[in-house]
Amino acid sequence: MTRSSVTQDDANPLPEALRLTPPSPLVDIGANLTHESFARDLDAVLARARHAGVDDMILTGTDLAHSEQAADLAQRHPGLYATAGLHPHMASHWNPELAAALQALQARPEVVAVGECGLDFNRNFSTPAEQEHAFEAQLALAAESGLPLFLHERDAGARMRDMLRHWRDAIGDAVVHCFTADRDTLHGYLDLDLHIGLTGWLCDERRGHHLRDLVADIPAARLMVETDCPYLLPRNLPAKLKGRRHEPALLPWIVREIAHWRGESEASLAASSTATARRFFRLDEEQ
Ligand SMILES: [Zn+2]
Repeated sequence: MTRSSVTQDDANPLPEALRLTPPSPLVDIGANLTHESFARDLDAVLARARHAGVDDMILTGTDLAHSEQAADLAQRHPGLYATAGLHPHMASHWNPELAAALQALQARPEVVAVGECGLDFNRNFSTPAEQEHAFEAQLALAAESGLPLFLHERDAGARMRDMLRHWRDAIGDAVVHCFTADRDTLHGYLDLDLHIGLTGWLCDERRGHHLRDLVADIPAARLMVETDCPYLLPRNLPAKLKGRRHEPALLPWIVREIAHWRGESEASLAASSTATARRFFRLDEEQ
């Protein structure tokens, strides 16, 4: 279904040492493929992803322009889907026209989630008040459309839980993507029946160490995997990658690391994370 639609670009394979085939197909639930670093060679990136068993990718929309680009790419390429939303860094740009444009975008069939949206009190590129306003408005959009939510949270776990608790009955499924916080925050999210997205953060022995003891607490039916590429190149790769740009074809290395720290096989994590993602984003109902 998806493999035949993309020209295999065998002229640009990953270095031999970085090729890893997962036991079963994967879904990368967070790929920033509208990032400018992919503009030049997106077809090769997609071909390498398919070679690596990453059959489906959810393209993260971070503002209106990138959400539109993501939806357009998803329309052109089977196996690609998009989110549409406004990242908390950009929350100061929220206004009624933007809300209407995002709502229209979220009605397109290739858009499978509202987001990314949420709270980031780490750098406060927008003020906390602006972030809460834009987040609240996007929670309302998700409640209205019934689409799942793709959430971003950094250093704002307590406030995020308060807001989600208030909205919990009105919204459907929600995933906290690139989870990097502590045990209490994790269990607070799980108690709210949220899903968790894990990146290669825990492959980083300098800052991902605390996650290694936590990941086994996440029920398999709530756990999904993502690259968050081009960011967060995993540090467990067995060879250097020229350019150091992360891409979906490297997702199997992240699955390997997460499976190790969960004490389960790569096969079971690959199967469960894919089943969870397909159910969460309702991928079988699209196309
Ligand atoms: Zn994010």
